[in-house]
Amino acid sequence: MHLNPYGEYAVLMAASLADDWPEDRAGIEARTRAFGMTMEFAEASDDHERTRRVVDEWLRVVDALEPGERARLLNDLMARATAYPRLTDHGGEGWHLHYRDDANDSLPDVLRAVISVGTALHLTTRGIHRLSRCAAGQMDGDSCVAVVVDVTRNGRQRYCSVRCANRAAVRRHRSRRAVTVP
Ligand SMILES: [Zn+2]
Ligand SMILES: [Zn+2]
Repeated sequence: MHLNPYGEYAVLMAASLADDWPEDRAGIEARTRAFGMTMEFAEASDDHERTRRVVDEWLRVVDALEPGERARLLNDLMARATAYPRLTDHGGEGWHLHYRDDANDSLPDVLRAVISVGTALHLTTRGIHRLSRCAAGQMDGDSCVAVVVDVTRNGRQRYCSVRCANRAAVRRHRSRRAVTVP
């Protein structure tokens, strides 16, 4: 497994799991493939629920908007997830870093390591605020809880989709009119 210097694929994979949770273990594994992971995972009967716990722990980081609190939660996750970094060049991938114990190939454990370190790279290289829930869901009566991983150049992405951005714009327009028209 390969983390680019921005940790981008890992944090996008975490968001994908959170937004569209697979109904079984095979679905989780398929998602890791879709995001470019190639390693074989050991199989255990509780992989599905343990991976769900990894995603839920990660969502606490997403929901912690205060930087200090966010860092504390993420440090906690990394402390439990990662071994010391190791240089490796398996599978002709070229030399890269692994942040996990090579002897541990459990699906939830590997994902916890990849997701927590990937998120730390993303937040430190791109910006500590570039992870949140969709801003549309913050408005009364809106149910969007999608995660926004901001990998844009200007760092101003607030909505998960064009649809949510448009819906929010319409609402802002309506509420302005409600104020100005007696
Ligand atoms: Zn690797
Ligand atoms: Zn949204």
